[in-house]
Amino acid sequence: MTYVVTENCIKCKYTDCVEVCPVDCFYEGENFLVINPDECIDCGVCEPECPAEAIKPDTEPGLEDWLKLNADLSVSWPNITRKRDAPPDAKEWDGKPGKLPLLSQEPGEGD
Ligand code: SF4
Ligand code: SF4
Repeated sequence: MTYVVTENCIKCKYTDCVEVCPVDCFYEGENFLVINPDECIDCGVCEPECPAEAIKPDTEPGLEDWLKLNADLSVSWPNITRKRDAPPDAKEWDGKPGKLPLLSQEPGEGD
C-alpha cells in the first residue's frame, strides 16, 4: 500500500506534510503535491499533519484514480522536503468540492 494526496490539497498546498516524511517522497506541482507510491514506506506520519485532510491511505475505497495521478505526476515534478508558505487564498479553497478541474499539471519550484 501507499499513501496518496487527494483533491482537497488542490490550491491549498499547505506543505505541512513534506517535513515529516522520513523518505522525502513528496513532489511539487504548481497548486498540488503528490506522493511517489514507489518510494512511500507507508509509515502514515504525514496523514495527521495535513490541515486539509487531503492525505489518505490507498486502502480506502475509491482512491484508484488518485493513486494513478500521484504515481504519474510524481515522476515529472520536483522533490519538495521543506515547508513553504501556503498560497494566500488557501483557506478560501479548503474544503471546496469539485477542485479537480483546477489541478495544474505544471511543476512547482521544488526545494
Ligand atoms: S499538508 Fe495537505 S494540503 Fe498541504 S501540501 Fe500536504 S497534502 Fe497538500
Ligand atoms: S506515509 Fe510516510 S513515507 Fe509515505 S508519504 Fe507519508 S510520511 Fe512519507
